[in-house]
This record gives sequence, structure tokens and C-alpha cells, in this order.
Amino acid sequence: MTIRQIPFLDLERQHAPIADEINAAIAEVIREHAFISGRHVEQFESDFAAYCQAEHCSGVSNGTDALVLALRALGIGPGDEVLVPAMTFIATSEAVTLTGATPVFVDCAPEVFTICPALAEQAVTPRTKAIIAVHLYGRPAALEEIRTLADKCRLSLVQDCAQAHGARFQDKPLVSYGDICCYSFYPGKNLGAFGDAGAVVTNDHELARRMRMDANHGRQSKYEHEFEGMNGRLDGLQAAILSVKLKHLEGWVESRREIAETYGKLLQGVNGVSLPPTDGNRHVYHLFTLQAERRDLLREHLAKHGISTGIHYPIALPFQPAYQNRKLRPEDFPVAHACQEKALSLPFFPGLLPEEILYVCSTISQFYGNHSTE
Ligand SMILES: *Cc1c(COP(=O)(O)O)cnc(C)c1O
Repeated sequence: MTIRQIPFLDLERQHAPIADEINAAIAEVIREHAFISGRHVEQFESDFAAYCQAEHCSGVSNGTDALVLALRALGIGPGDEVLVPAMTFIATSEAVTLTGATPVFVDCAPEVFTICPALAEQAVTPRTKAIIAVHLYGRPAALEEIRTLADKCRLSLVQDCAQAHGARFQDKPLVSYGDICCYSFYPGKNLGAFGDAGAVVTNDHELARRMRMDANHGRQSKYEHEFEGMNGRLDGLQAAILSVKLKHLEGWVESRREIAETYGKLLQGVNGVSLPPTDGNRHVYHLFTLQAERRDLLREHLAKHGISTGIHYPIALPFQPAYQNRKLRPEDFPVAHACQEKALSLPFFPGLLPEEILYVCSTISQFYGNHSTE
């Protein structure tokens, strides 16, 4: 008997139907030698700004650089503190350190695992200059409370939207909460390039100008530099590919939301798993991550049945070897710590078939000796 194989992510199913469109776009860039800057980059920037309902978008080299450029534009540097959620990918805190500032970790709110606004407020000191809200797994963080906190304590707000293309908070675009939204187009993200790419999005004209110049050596013209910047540009090939894929993004997001709903229905009532809660905001499910009892055994059971899963993330930031010198303890970040022990991300991508979802869910119910999925 051959067991059915269910991949965690299958980009082939996403790319096969649009391969001709993408190949044509690549051929065009090559024909025009439009590798750096030029019309494909400008086109994507205006397409993505429109998609985000934002006034300004600059394509940049990757999501990590997007965060660095945002923090630099906001004047964050040595001596400053920036609040960062404990449960996220390390790029969020790396970007802070790269500016010379210090990331200060804040535990997440239970069940949703985005930064807890009340704990964030307690962590504010006279040196705190900004807060980074990460829309983890595609779920908008508590933007209303975070905006209120930012206003009250005079903090800049950077939104790490690397997992949240197309997300909305109470029907409003994320960028409307300020100050800068940072996107990654790493291939596995909801909108992925064929390599590294990213973008910064804002409604603030001066911040937009600053970031655009900073990503291009502080250039005013070819050899005239207003300030020292960096090479943080988006390239023409990636821009052309992203413009093609962006046209399909809303369809993919809707498909993600439907798959999440199906998973939710089939796993409801299975003892041993807690599902991601739904709320009035538009969650775009970069990942479908649940909390599972006996997580590692469940993961093995699924693997034996040909089902690949992921853990996001197995080590919360405060407990990473990179931050060992801070001597942070599990009891200081109980929610993030519980999440690292229980989080399990199921196979999830547009094109995942209903029978595959059913198979994943019945294999999970079987593990817990529970047949409530029928
Ligand atoms: C992917 C990711 C990043 C970094 O993006 P890159 O394009 O890989 O540099 C930052 N933050 C979060 C939450 C991410 O998931």
C-alpha cells in the first residue's frame, strides 16, 4: 500500500496555471534589460500600493531590509528601545538590532499569539521609541489598542506584514493604522517572488521619500547622495513576476480563508486541539497553526501517514541562543513558551484539495481517539 503524501506547501500547484504569464513577463524584462529600477519596478509599486489602499509603496530587497528601512526612516538607532513580540520570526528583532537599537520582548496575547497591548504598555520606558506589531500567521494584531498605546506613549508603529498580505482590521486596510507596513515576498509567503523581495508601504509622504532614497544609496541623482543609505532595492525580474502574481492574490486569499474554514469545521470538537479563533478582522492565513496536546507525538503520527507539518516557531525569540545573554525565563513569557511547545501548522496552500483536508483531519482525530469529524 502506498500512503498518500500531503506536502506542507506546494508552490507547483500555484505556479503551474500561470506559468505562461510569468514566463512572458520574465522574457520582457530580459529583452528590455530592465534589471534594476525601471518600469517593471514602478508598475509593481503602484499596483501594490493600490492593493494595500496606500499612498506610497517602495519595492525593496527583502522583508528584513523593509523593517530596517522603516526603523531607520523613523530615526530609530543606538540607545533606543523597540517593543517586539516574543513569538515571531527572528527578522523582526534582527532589524531592530541592525539599527543599533535594542529589541525588548513582550509576551503575546493568549490564543491569538500577537503582541499583548497591556504587556507592551508595561514594557515602555523613557527610551522606548517604537513598537513592532507582527500580524502573525496572517492574523491582524490588536491594531486599535496598539495605535492608542502608540499615541499615548509617543511611539512609532511599524507593522510587520510579512505574513499578512491582504489582511484588514475591521474592514480597514492595515496601513490606515500607521506608520509603516513592511512586506516580505519570500517565495513561501502569501505573495511570493522567485527569490528575495519585499516592500515598504505608508501614507506618510516624508517617510516614503526617506525610505525610497535610503534603499538606493541615499541618491538624489546618479552620483549625488543626500545621505548614506544602502542597497536595498527590488529588482526588475522580481517586480515583473510579482505584478503577474498580484493579480491572483485575492483569489488565493479567498481560497486560504475557505480552507481554514473547512479545517475549522472538521476539527471542531476534537479533544486535544485548540483552533485559531475567528474575529471581525480579515485573517489571511499565511499559516493554519493550531495548538495541540502531545504536539510532537501528533506530528510523528501525521508524518507516518505521509502528512508534512511545520512548527511556527519551535523557539520563541527570548529563548533563542542569540539572546542567551539576557537570561530570559519561560515564566516571563508564558504564552509564547506554551505556543512553542504546542504550535503545529497543518498543510496549507491554495489548491489543497477537500479530500486532502479531510484526510489530515481524520488522521488527527484518529490520533486523539476521537471520531467527531465523522
Ligand atoms: C518572512 C518574515 C520576515 C522576513 O522576510 P524576508 O523577506 O525573509 O527577509 C520578517 N518577519 C516575519 C514575521 C516573517 O515571517
